[in-house]
Amino acid sequence: MHSSPNSSPTRRIVIAVDGFSSCGKSTFARLLAARLGYIFIDTGAMYRAVTCYGIDHGAVQDGRIDRERLIGMLDDIDISFRFNPARGASDIYVNGVCVEDRIRGIEVSDAVSRVSRIPEVRAKLVALQQRMGAEKGVVMDGRDIGTVVFPDAELKLYMTADPKIRARRRYLELRARGEEVPEEEIERNIRERDEADLHRAISPLRKAPDAIELDNSHMTLEEQMAWIEPILAERTAAAAGGAGNGK
Ligand code: C5P
Repeated sequence: MHSSPNSSPTRRIVIAVDGFSSCGKSTFARLLAARLGYIFIDTGAMYRAVTCYGIDHGAVQDGRIDRERLIGMLDDIDISFRFNPARGASDIYVNGVCVEDRIRGIEVSDAVSRVSRIPEVRAKLVALQQRMGAEKGVVMDGRDIGTVVFPDAELKLYMTADPKIRARRRYLELRARGEEVPEEEIERNIRERDEADLHRAISPLRKAPDAIELDNSHMTLEEQMAWIEPILAERTAAAAGGAGNGK
């Protein structure tokens, strides 16, 4: 699965990974990108970063969103990713300040679904995501990547997992970061976000007709990598203009 030195640039593809909250999309997408030598972009982190900015600047307070105020701030928000060698992954920055440690906290998690349903927020972030993936060679995870951001992506995955298993995973992840949040509260947040993401008017979470579904409730990360390998080989060969022609 590692990129080989003779990989032609024409073989680089866009891989869209959509699905529910906390079902391991980012972990899967990050590892896949690392093995392929592709760029990984966590679009959920971008919506979380905007939410963080809104909290810091009074547009998101106690879970209430001042829509007009937040929309008025959008031009002042500059989002970027920088590789952090200590973590072996990219951290997200807002106006040059790293917010990586804050974006997964419960305050941001509780407000992000309402921030992400604002059309102006989506328009800004979708345009940025399209610029980031314009050169291909990217694995992007989110809710609308295969349906809106890159409807022509060569490979689209739709990930699901049992909500209880997802809550458990997020609980362990938060605990590892030193945040002790009751598991029931996490499960409630996950179910609420599922509802909000599935039923919002703009870009709801939806499986693209040509997406391949992966339920990873009972799969290890390596099992998921093994599952994707033949699919990937077929799609990258097709992108190069025909399976096995070496171009
Ligand atoms: O993926 P993650 O759970 O970090 O995403 C946080 C929130 O951002 C989601 O609940 C969803 O409301 C929003 N989101 C979105 N579109 C994306 C990625 C995330 O609306 N492409």
